[in-house]
Amino acid sequence: MEVRLNTPVTPELCRELKPDAIVAALGAVTAAPPIPGIRGENVKTAVEVFAEPGLARGKTAILGAGTTGLELAIYLASLGREVRILEMRSAREAASGASTYAMQLEKYGLRVEYGVKALEILPDGVRVSADGEETVLPCDTVVNALGMTPLWDEADALRFCAPEFHQVGDCLKSRNLMATTSEAWTAARNIGCC
Ligand SMILES: Cc1cc2nc3c(=O)[nH]c(=O)nc-3n(C[C@H](O)[C@H](O)[C@H](O)COP(=O)(O)OP(=O)(O)OC[C@H]3O[C@@H](n4cnc5c(N)ncnc54)[C@H](O)[C@@H]3O)c2cc1C
Repeated sequence: MEVRLNTPVTPELCRELKPDAIVAALGAVTAAPPIPGIRGENVKTAVEVFAEPGLARGKTAILGAGTTGLELAIYLASLGREVRILEMRSAREAASGASTYAMQLEKYGLRVEYGVKALEILPDGVRVSADGEETVLPCDTVVNALGMTPLWDEADALRFCAPEFHQVGDCLKSRNLMATTSEAWTAARNIGCC
C-alpha cells in the first residue's frame, strides 16, 4: 500500500492515477453561518482552540452548546479560563446535550445561556438578541462551535473520476467516529461488487 502525505486529491490527480475506485473521506470544515464578523481576528474555531487552548485569550464566548461547544467550555474552564456559552435554541430544544454534561458544567460553575442568538461579532464582544432585546456581551475571544459543513462540493468534483465512487464519513454528513468507520468498512467491502 502506498500512502502519499501532503497530497490534495484533485480531479487532475485522479486523471493521472486512473484509479478503479475512489472513496471520498474528505471530512468537514467548521460551518461559517452569515454572521457579520465571523471571520474576524478575534474569532477562532473550536477545532483550533482544542489544538491550541492559548488561542482563547481573556474572556471567551463560545457560540453553540452542542457537544463540541460544551466539551470545549469544560476543557477551557478546567484550565482556569473565563468562559460563557451562548446557545440560540431554548433549554428544552437543546436539552439532551447539556444534561449529559451537567455534572461537569456544575463543577466548573458553567451554565449555558439559552435563547441567545449571535447577530454580529464585534472586536470587543458579541451583539446578541435575547428575549426580544439586542445587547452586546463583552468578550475578548469568540469561539465558533456552530457545527461542521461536509465537504460535499469537493467530493462531488471526484464523483466521475473513477468507474466506482463511494462517499463516506463526515464529508457525507458530519457525525462521529462510529458512523465514519462503519461506512468506510462498508465501502471497502463493496469495492468491485457493483
Ligand atoms: C472538535 C471535535 C471533536 C470531536 N470529538 C469526537 C469524539 O469524541 N468522538 C467521536 O466519535 N467523534 C468526534 N468528532 C467527530 C469525528 O472527529 C469525525 O466524525 C471523524 O473524524 C470523521 O472522520 P472522516 O475520516 O470522515 O473525516 P476527517 O477525520 O475530517 O478526515 C478527513 C481528512 O481528509 C483530508 N482531506 C480533505 N480534503 C482532501 C483532499 N482533497 N485530498 C486529500 N485529503 C483531503 C483532511 O485533511 C483530513 O485529514 C469530533 C469532531 C470535532 C470537530
